[in-house]
Amino acid sequence: MKIELIKGDITKIKADAIVNAANSSLLGGGGVDGAIHRAGGKQILDECIEIRNKQGKCKTGEVVITTAGNLPAKYVIHTVGPIWNGDEEKCSKLLANCYKNSLKLAESVDVKSIAFPNISTGVYKFPKELAAKIAVNEVQNFQSEIIEKVVFVCFDDENEFIYRELLKI
Ligand code: ADP
Repeated sequence: MKIELIKGDITKIKADAIVNAANSSLLGGGGVDGAIHRAGGKQILDECIEIRNKQGKCKTGEVVITTAGNLPAKYVIHTVGPIWNGDEEKCSKLLANCYKNSLKLAESVDVKSIAFPNISTGVYKFPKELAAKIAVNEVQNFQSEIIEKVVFVCFDDENEFIYRELLKI
């Protein structure tokens, strides 16, 4: 899998799938979640509501998928990142699950390109350096015959700097 880094807004990315750092309600929120629902339109929220009615809330580290409404992507994979509480081991495992489960779900619908935001590093306060290490590690260790490209979309300067150092790009 090829790994790329882009500084900017994930709602503008034309990939088969973009990942949303959702909250467990699946009903939208602030940050990247708000941006995706705003730009993607009502279709995404309607599908999220339908999923919620069927299976209830989405647990931390787990994923659900919707179409992407008005976005240039085909799908949105919604994952719930951990809220940082200082328990490094537990939070790290849950964040790793977000990346792993997103990649697995993407494969199951034949996604060739997928873009990730820096999950949990906004209001959920996960330390950015550690979050980036986990993200890069999970992606680099994921063997796929289907996914060809993974894009890390960094919105803030600090994350961009950290990812550039880690990926050496
Ligand atoms: P969380 O609740 O998982 O912390 P946030 O949305 O608050 O989610 O933040 C996650 C990351 O998404 C942060 O690094 C933030 O800078 C970034 N972000 C916010 N808006 C966008 C956007 N439009 N595109 C890509 N990343 C974004």
